[in-house]
Amino acid sequence: MKAEIITVGTEILLGDIINTNSQYLAKELASIGVDVYYQSSVGDNEERLLKSFEESLGRSDIVITTGGLGPTSDDITKEVACKFFNQTPVLHKPSLQNIEKYFKKMNIEISDSNKKQAYFPENAMVLENKNGTAPGAILKNNNKIIIILPGPPKEMKPMFEEFVKPYLQDKTKSVLMSKNIKILGMGESLVEKNLIDIIKEQNNPTIAPYVKEGEVSLRITAKAKTKNEASSLIEPFVDKIKERLGNCIYAVGDINLEDVIANMLIDKNMTISVAESCTGGMVSSTLINYPGISKVFVEGCVTYSNEAKRERLGVKKETLDKYGAVSEETAKEMAYGIASKFNTNIGISTTGIAGPDGGSEKKPVGLVYMGIYINGKTYAIGQIFNGDRQMIRLRATKTILNELRL
Ligand code: ATP
Ligand code: MG
Repeated sequence: MKAEIITVGTEILLGDIINTNSQYLAKELASIGVDVYYQSSVGDNEERLLKSFEESLGRSDIVITTGGLGPTSDDITKEVACKFFNQTPVLHKPSLQNIEKYFKKMNIEISDSNKKQAYFPENAMVLENKNGTAPGAILKNNNKIIIILPGPPKEMKPMFEEFVKPYLQDKTKSVLMSKNIKILGMGESLVEKNLIDIIKEQNNPTIAPYVKEGEVSLRITAKAKTKNEASSLIEPFVDKIKERLGNCIYAVGDINLEDVIANMLIDKNMTISVAESCTGGMVSSTLINYPGISKVFVEGCVTYSNEAKRERLGVKKETLDKYGAVSEETAKEMAYGIASKFNTNIGISTTGIAGPDGGSEKKPVGLVYMGIYINGKTYAIGQIFNGDRQMIRLRATKTILNELRL
């Protein structure tokens, strides 16, 4: 079953409001297995809205609109939809009663323009608006359906959830299920290269790599009649992908890196302290996202200057003079320094050049050293990260935390 979303409102076209309705509906429709191939926005204009209905219903079975159900003269969605289907709206008494009730509660006199909101074609399924005055409706003509919903998200969403979703689910009798595989330590193109045969051959489930917040995810999406069936389509691919990508997978499902690391530290009862330079607290802050981290997290400090690295962590002056603050040696002394000062099982550190200025040929922007003291040993890894200042810091944060897993 194919559906289209038309968001109605000149404000959307002018960029005065952000079109969150489309995003919400697209996501919801995908989750119940309704294909959305087109979304469009159109102003409060009869001629253009008629044209949109014509185009959309020419290629799809269902159109869902939001907006333009209000009482004012520029709210014309329902009237245009009725015109398109050649149907005459008549008074729908329960809606009028609801509107009257709503106004009484607000202590406002009801106007004639509000009464127009209670008119619907006889064969329409009227959808009660429990958060406003304008009811929505499901209008039908032969095999084509127009579902009209109010514009304000706080009215539209509950109406969709309560009436439209079950209505569509009953029609599609299918579910769409997704599972994410989360990857660190392998770039998007390499992930794709490793899986290209699987990705190309598949259409149910589909497998799509995408990059978000400095890491690669694979989204496996299956369409089936039931959740169980969808799940059994997905699982063999999870196994196949695990075989190919091995340890670069840090989680299957919607789990964050910090959850994985925090759970591991708590399980092993290993305490940790963090000394940061270029990440400026991001590593600590990420770990502290995890509720319950206090069992293992002891100290996090931002030692940005050389002086702070010396005074607070005991990094040697000679090391800083000889190798510089951004160096393997400094990263190691930072990690060792914080761990011994706070007597933790693990100490980790970051020191790098987040840019945009400050790089040199030998030490370019994006170069970050990350130190680790663990099980009595200290080592450091150096990497050059792409992206702007924020992205370099984020990638360094994820890389050092991921290193704890390996
Ligand atoms: P009302 O009864 O408030 O007039 P309506 O159904 O006529 O509702 P519109 O007049 O088109 O809807 O829009 C009302 C408000 O709803 C907008 O000012 C905006 O805040 C919100 N809105 C409308 N369309 C969208 C959209 N696509 N995404 C997010 N918000 C929207
Ligand atoms: Mg309006």
